[in-house]
Amino acid sequence: MLNKRFGQNFLIDQNILVSIPEIAGLNENDVVLEIGTGTGGLTRLLAEKARHVFTVEIDKKLFEVSSDILKLYKNITLINTDILKTKHELNRDVLSLIQNWLREYNQTKIKVVSNLPYNISTPVIINLLESDLSIDLMVLMLQKEITERMAATPGTREYGILSLIIQLFSEVKVVKTLPPQVFWPKPEVYSAIVKVVIHKEKYAGKITDYSFFKNIMYAIFTSRRKTLLNSLEQLKLPEISREQIKELIQNMQLDERVRGEVLNLDQLITLSEAMYKLAKEIS
Ligand code: SAH
Repeated sequence: MLNKRFGQNFLIDQNILVSIPEIAGLNENDVVLEIGTGTGGLTRLLAEKARHVFTVEIDKKLFEVSSDILKLYKNITLINTDILKTKHELNRDVLSLIQNWLREYNQTKIKVVSNLPYNISTPVIINLLESDLSIDLMVLMLQKEITERMAATPGTREYGILSLIIQLFSEVKVVKTLPPQVFWPKPEVYSAIVKVVIHKEKYAGKITDYSFFKNIMYAIFTSRRKTLLNSLEQLKLPEISREQIKELIQNMQLDERVRGEVLNLDQLITLSEAMYKLAKEIS
């Protein structure tokens, strides 16, 4: 019955299950989005604390099983669909359903609480953060390595695009490490629970053009052995010369041989904004 493709590992440790709504600080005003209903073990506990729970499950059989198990809960909306439309886009029907509900019941914020399917956790998290859903908190169970990348600091091996995008929009705290035994079937990896507190505008408010920023970040972090200068030059922004990039790096009091992956978020934003200005001034 289990479908390997869907990353199905159910959380079976009761103590941990019960601790999750607590970590999220859920109360009767909260609206929750869960991704991966499974058999509804976590869903039920969320619904007992929160005002309403939206839960999305891709697997039709599991959707039917959990619909039956959860049928007495009036504050759960079960949705049988793929949370992702593509790797780069969430399922719009799910978003509209939630947004319409929020409008109708005069609420704005939601919390995401979920034992995420590990194979899609990175795109789901990034797309959630970039979406226009007003999320104030996420409490997620993830593969331990992913949580380390989320919380990584500049210059470490784990610091990359994921760290950057997460930290741009939120503060990440690893709450607890979980051994494989708390799941059934046992995954091959350790897991961890993270608390992601969203501060959407703290850094993001300083970025003029988010897709320009992202292009720069991909240029820096996908060619990690390159110097900052070389990876920015490789972007081949027609308006900006190598000399200008060099000057920009010097203006930031950085060595011209510096690698991009040692820069912190503030420095990366300053850099991208300066590049953006150059690109716009000339064109
Ligand atoms: N929350 C449950 C199940 C976690 S396992 C528990 O803690 O026990 C992850 C669940 O996500 C599985 O039920 C799997 O079928 C579902 N899933 C996998 N990919 C999905 C996708 N793209 N969209 C929605 N659900 C998905």
